Amino acid sequence: MLPVVALVGRPNVGKSTLFNRLTRTRDALVADFPGLTRDRKYGTAEHENLQFIVVDTGGISGDEKGIDMAMAEQSLLAIVEADVVLFLVDARVGMTGADQGIAEHLRKQEKPVYVVANKVDGIDGDSESADFFALGLGDVNQIAAAHGRGVTQLLQNALNPIAEHFPDMIIPEESDEGLAEEDAEEQLARLQAQPIKLAIVGKPNVGKSTLTNRILGEERVVVYDEPGTTRDSVFIPMERDGREYILIDTAGVRRRRNISEAVEKFSIVKTLQAIEESNVVLFVVDAREGITDQDLSLLGFILNAGRSLVVSVNKWDGLDKDIKDEINRELDRRLGFIDFARIHYISALHGTGVGHLFESVQEAYASATKRITTSMVTRIMDMAQDDHQPPVVRGRRVKMKYAHAGGYNPPIIVIHGNQLKDLPDSYKRYLMNYFRKSLNVMGTPIKIEFREGA
Ligand code: GDP
Ligand code: GDP
Repeated sequence: MLPVVALVGRPNVGKSTLFNRLTRTRDALVADFPGLTRDRKYGTAEHENLQFIVVDTGGISGDEKGIDMAMAEQSLLAIVEADVVLFLVDARVGMTGADQGIAEHLRKQEKPVYVVANKVDGIDGDSESADFFALGLGDVNQIAAAHGRGVTQLLQNALNPIAEHFPDMIIPEESDEGLAEEDAEEQLARLQAQPIKLAIVGKPNVGKSTLTNRILGEERVVVYDEPGTTRDSVFIPMERDGREYILIDTAGVRRRRNISEAVEKFSIVKTLQAIEESNVVLFVVDAREGITDQDLSLLGFILNAGRSLVVSVNKWDGLDKDIKDEINRELDRRLGFIDFARIHYISALHGTGVGHLFESVQEAYASATKRITTSMVTRIMDMAQDDHQPPVVRGRRVKMKYAHAGGYNPPIIVIHGNQLKDLPDSYKRYLMNYFRKSLNVMGTPIKIEFREGA
């Protein structure tokens, strides 16, 4: 599990600047689901050796009244889901009434809160941030989000105290490089021995609960009919075709009484946690709604996380042929970037097509954990290089020398050679497709890493 860090503060203090710095190029997921506030942003953050989920709660002024108050409280709901709160204030402006209003709210939460005085670049940080001790929330951390100053120290202060509860938040040293051959081999043995963790993920109302019930059979539902906290998924062990699974249920297999409950139980944090936690994601879309931008953001996350993927287009029952054709065209057009994933057309309500989903889930996991030997990938790499030579850059031909497996789920192929940083993206894509075809993998992304020298 990754911890959740919420960025809170009035508008203009630098929350999105800090958010963008922490998430770098990764896509932010903007909460724009029916019934949820629109201005919350979610992302997976990686900073130095730490990874976590970061939420930008949007602006709160701290002095809201009436309907504004209700909206601010919606936004403050993000704090409920958070493990740590970073409360940003503006060191240039000094303390405001709004800051005090927010502080008052935060003092009532039983959460670790860290005061962060931003924009200390070019000013005397110590004296300008001294005021903020009066917020009564402890030490004041000085940063310049725009330049990155103080950010590492801040994260250490805020995350070290919870590190023992979240071991996954520490990125192992070698992980940005791919593993050594022997370590990859060990990882593979572990993955093959464990149950497949399958997360059922999708927007609200696409049919996740209906599908989960269908998969488990109605009698199991009652057993798991316990209200969890909003943020936690339910982990359900099950067996299928002689293989053990742990179903990660983000919908909460609960009979619900009304629509508002349905909306409330959906949590983006829960969804992101479930994706991180899983081996394979079963992604559910609603045929009647087509592929929305929110679907694409979620798929972007799944891809970034390197998870295996099976897509089910649900509510396929009772649709006219014209509409089905139109949906197919849309899928072709918008889902090109996940062309490695199998697509199933199902009706969770009637059970049609549900049985076949597991064939693709098994296939995806088998692909993601299929043993790759050094001789095999080096041979494939040589063939790719013979069929289509890498380009000549600055008078020297880029040369790939040998390859080995650097990890599984997803498979990582590490290629050693000379001038590999000069390989154009088009050649990398060519290699990716070549490996995919030659290794015969389906349902999992493949990562290729390049290293200079032999
Ligand atoms: P938000 O409304 O809290 O999300 O604030 P933004 O991230 O949009 O930042 C508001 C303004 O403050 C922008 O003009 C930023 O460029 C500026 N800003 C953010 N961080 C810093 C910083 O570290 N130093 C300075 N000088 N300006 C900053
Ligand atoms: P969740 O929020 O993703 O868990 O979605 P639910 O499983 O609660 O389903 C939302 C609504 O869609 C409910 O009214 C379901 O009865 C309906 N639904 C789910 N699956 C299907 C399906 O395959 N066909 C049709 N027609 N309706 C479905």
